[in-house]
Amino acid sequence: MFWFEELPKFAYDWWTRLGLNYPAVWSFAVFSAFAYGACLGSFINVCIWRMPRGESVVNAPSHCTKCGAHIKWYDNLPVVSFLVLRGRCRVCREPYSPRYFIVEVLTGALFAAILVKTGLTRQEPGAIYFYCVLTLLAIGAAWIDAEWRIIPDKLNYPAMILALAGALAMPQAWGCAHWWQGGVRSLLSGMLPGAGLWIFAVLGKKLCGREVLGRGDVKFVVAIGMLSGLPGALFSVTFGSLAGSLCGLARCAVRREPAARCTIPFGPFLAAGAMVWVFAGDWLLQMAGALQRHGG
Ligand SMILES: [Zn+2]
Repeated sequence: MFWFEELPKFAYDWWTRLGLNYPAVWSFAVFSAFAYGACLGSFINVCIWRMPRGESVVNAPSHCTKCGAHIKWYDNLPVVSFLVLRGRCRVCREPYSPRYFIVEVLTGALFAAILVKTGLTRQEPGAIYFYCVLTLLAIGAAWIDAEWRIIPDKLNYPAMILALAGALAMPQAWGCAHWWQGGVRSLLSGMLPGAGLWIFAVLGKKLCGREVLGRGDVKFVVAIGMLSGLPGALFSVTFGSLAGSLCGLARCAVRREPAARCTIPFGPFLAAGAMVWVFAGDWLLQMAGALQRHGG
């Protein structure tokens, strides 16, 4: 899944061994995954607001962006507080952006879906870690890129560090026996597509005289590769280019603008490709393997 060779399914059935075949345990685990996701989604919301504005994501406590009032911990619970306060600040009653609620619910739902998917397909449980980090990165990068046309280094670099640390600690998720092999595979999976895109970006700028691919996008692909493997990175770039071009052309047609003048951010489409890979990647690899066997 993380590399081109087909990985053996996990040696023992961790889903059954953890008791996840019982509906009560299963429901609790899925609910917990949602809760974890919603909490981390809450943190991604802070990143989405503060990173493009150059504010610290760790030091300053949460405050209302309209009146500046500090938000008490009981008004800062993911999903729940938004519903209790009906999406308004307790002090000034100004509505919060629906983004807070959307990102929290989306992250929670994706975390729960990742647990179910890796369990049902009996994937190596370490994959859950990489998929969850990739989900957080994808949501943050997509939202910031759509709004600001940048993907901050402060988002890409920590994701790369988490990817490398995870690959060193869980090389078996990368089909490797030794920690250093996991690290090398993760690094190569990011660096190879990253180098290709970087050359494309430099040549594109020379030939077109304007930026065709941002540096943030290149680093984002490096992080995607380090988290989902080389096939995942290649799929995200292919999916992102196709989907992005189609949407760009559709927007030009609607606005009746010349194609050269309308640009759209690449990040959200790369992020969408990465999320498709999380849920359908190993199935796509199996299909490709079966086709190859038929052909050969
Ligand atoms: Zn307020």
